[in-house]
Amino acid sequence: VTADGAAARVWLREALRDLDRQLQALGSGLLFRKGDPLEILGSLIEDGDVTAIYWSRGYTPTARALDAAVERLFVEKGVEAHHFNSTLLAEPTDLKTGSGTAYQVFTPFWKKLETLAPLRQTLPVPNALPSPDLSLVPSVELEDLIPLPNLPWVDELLRSWDPTVGGVQQALDDFLDTAVKKYSTDRDQPSVRGTSQLSPYLCSGQLSPQMVQEAVDNQCGTGTGSEAFLRQLAWREFAAHLLFHFPETVESPLRKNYEMFPWKKNPGQLQLWQEGQTGFPIVDAGMRQLWSTGWMHNRVRMITASFLIKDLLVDWRKGAEWFWETLLDADLANNTMGWQWVAGCGADASPFFRIFNPMSQGEKFDTQGRYVRKWCPELRTLPDKWIHRPFEAPENVLIEAGVTLGEDYPLPIVNHAEARLAALDALAEMKELCRE
Ligand code: FAD
Repeated sequence: VTADGAAARVWLREALRDLDRQLQALGSGLLFRKGDPLEILGSLIEDGDVTAIYWSRGYTPTARALDAAVERLFVEKGVEAHHFNSTLLAEPTDLKTGSGTAYQVFTPFWKKLETLAPLRQTLPVPNALPSPDLSLVPSVELEDLIPLPNLPWVDELLRSWDPTVGGVQQALDDFLDTAVKKYSTDRDQPSVRGTSQLSPYLCSGQLSPQMVQEAVDNQCGTGTGSEAFLRQLAWREFAAHLLFHFPETVESPLRKNYEMFPWKKNPGQLQLWQEGQTGFPIVDAGMRQLWSTGWMHNRVRMITASFLIKDLLVDWRKGAEWFWETLLDADLANNTMGWQWVAGCGADASPFFRIFNPMSQGEKFDTQGRYVRKWCPELRTLPDKWIHRPFEAPENVLIEAGVTLGEDYPLPIVNHAEARLAALDALAEMKELCRE
């Protein structure tokens, strides 16, 4: 079990339940054990007739350390150990620049990735998988291994998503049958189901990028939509490779001068951001979508992250922690890269001085305010012109819409124009500190 965030743990629990069901139908099943993985595996070797172990290796710092320890253990005990890659399109060690270093710019990385032959073809599910009598081997209940967190959104998460193999296939088919054709244009509109929403399946390992690539090749062929989609999938690969080569970036910025950034300790505003109560509708809509469904649209992830980092000057790590806890697709590599991209301190990142204006971002990508109206229903009857800037609406418009700012919907917690200047000052201060 590698998912640490509460939401991703709920997903993993349901995904494991489904995998157990699938294996049982083939004559096998899962055993669940709780505790130190090395001790558990060691005792399985002692107790049983184990001749070999096969597993899908991981690429995060923790997974790599565990994989190495497991391999050592099995080799020491004289048991064959085989691990393989089922989660990435290429090995991070196989993809280097001409000078032998890790890529830090996406486009050349992607071009090189495209030249590599796929690792292997995905194999069909076997018809049967006979195993020894599992009832004789001790196993804990899945409910004890991963208890459900006592959080209000758990029921809603389970209602909104289908974390089973059937759910994977459905989501893939739905997307590839229609939405992929318009992906290039629709992917930036949060009110439209324009992206695949495959991320939780990719994150849990129920779906591999190889399977996605093959499905695109078989079902859609070439086209601007499918190319744009595969390009996004390559960003996932880029993130994983970056984390492999720069494992310290979970905790510290890739661009070291950002260690000196004068972040503000701002727990009150951080909490308002988490609760979707900032007074900026597109930000609040995104944070509420996240809290209710465990997922947030990519464009809105960028807007909400920019608001936390640049309008509130809160350290990107605080935002990454919140996403890690609440995202069903919480993925260490993607989350780290996403936050560092917005903060301007990561690989191929958006420069810090490019500060999103939450009102104009809303007007550009949610022109008719459908997304905001869904997640901030208290603003439902505001005219389109004011939906992304209720605090600028004339008094009579607010009265007609039945909105009292500060009561029905919060007043903005910062003045964006002033916050923008403060962010640029903070950037200048960091540069000054780095010169000293
Ligand atoms: P689609 O647009 O359908 O893309 C298909 C797949 O490509 C995705 O499922 C994902 O695996 C990959 N992908 C797409 N965009 C990106 C991207 N920008 N970076 C890396 N991979 C991408 N993604 C996560 O999976 N887990 C995270 O924890 C995560 N945290 C993020 C934090 C921030 C601040 C930002 C800006 C982005 C983050 N992302 C994360 C990336 C992206 O937002 C999601 O992958 C995407 O929204 C998932 O929706 P989808 O499956 O519909 O994507």
